[in-house]
Amino acid sequence: MFIVLEGIDGTGKSTQVQLLADWFRSQGREVVTSREPTDQPWGKKLRESAATGRLSPEDELEYFLKDRKQHIDELIRPALDAGKVVILDRYYFSTMAYQGSRGFNPREIRAKNEAFAPRPDHLFILDLDVDAARERIGARGDTTNEFEKRDSLAKCREIFLGLAEEPFVHVIDTNRPIAEVQASLREALQ
Ligand code: C5P
Repeated sequence: MFIVLEGIDGTGKSTQVQLLADWFRSQGREVVTSREPTDQPWGKKLRESAATGRLSPEDELEYFLKDRKQHIDELIRPALDAGKVVILDRYYFSTMAYQGSRGFNPREIRAKNEAFAPRPDHLFILDLDVDAARERIGARGDTTNEFEKRDSLAKCREIFLGLAEEPFVHVIDTNRPIAEVQASLREALQ
């Protein structure tokens, strides 16, 4: 089974990935968790660029595709083929949202990805309004491009929510305690 958690920064994806993995393991399932950008060379460059902003939008998109191809070949497909549960913290829906918020067409990004990337069985969009998310990540004191950042996160959220009607997508309200959010994920999977 292939599960992906998406959402803007501050929605608690990494915590929920770990709790979901614990739940599957308690049922005797083998679980692989991972994240994008990965910790492989392309992913590392992307994380550095997110911190320093040195890559052009075109290079950034290209690096995401390279990082993802490697991730799929080396980790995702082998684990799925071996019958394991794969749970990802971000995947190509983040590329639609973030690179979409930087001027690319989200539908084109999706098509480019779906040419090689397997679609998850379940996509959870962890949702939170932008101000609450920014408060959680402590961004309020950050005065650099304050409005620009808020606007681009709002655009990302809008792109994520645009996926809501598709049958494999679940939108989860994360303006609640961690355990309640986790209970909603498990309920959707049952
Ligand atoms: O998931 P995590 O918070 O570790 O992601 C690192 C950063 O990379 C995020 O803050 C996000 O703004 C950025 N990112 C991006 N484009 C993506 C995925 C993540 O700019 N496709």
